[in-house]
Amino acid sequence: MADGCLFCAIVAGDVPSTMVHETARTYAFRDLQPWAPTHVLVVPKDHFTDLAALAAADPAYLGEVFAAAAEVAELESLSGGHRIIANTGPDSGQTVFHLHVHVLGGKNLGALAG
Ligand code: 5GP
Ligand code: ZN
Repeated sequence: MADGCLFCAIVAGDVPSTMVHETARTYAFRDLQPWAPTHVLVVPKDHFTDLAALAAADPAYLGEVFAAAAEVAELESLSGGHRIIANTGPDSGQTVFHLHVHVLGGKNLGALAG
């Protein structure tokens, strides 16, 4: 648990969240400000700053995060498809520095642009 980290506090249950899915090492919950009908964040329960940090430390654990994201897509019945985003670093607009993957779907998400 990293001091002052919002997503560590959510994993610990100190900040409330709406759980969607959980495994021994991952936790998935609904984004507070959804961009799409389904917008779920999947995080490792342990603190890693971003995807690159977890990839370097423990690639199998990163695999668990993505496997959980795929399970979330199934649970949310995103049969039309979905998009997974992992903002990494300042140019991406990452605002919470605890690795999270966004699972988005439930509508046509359009092309990636920008
Ligand atoms: P980022 O921009 O870092 O990739 O995404 C951070 C996400 O966390 C944003 O989509 C934002 O809406 C979400 N978020 C920020 N604070 C909270 C919170 O307290 N609870 C939940 N469930 N989501 C949050
Ligand atoms: Zn954290």
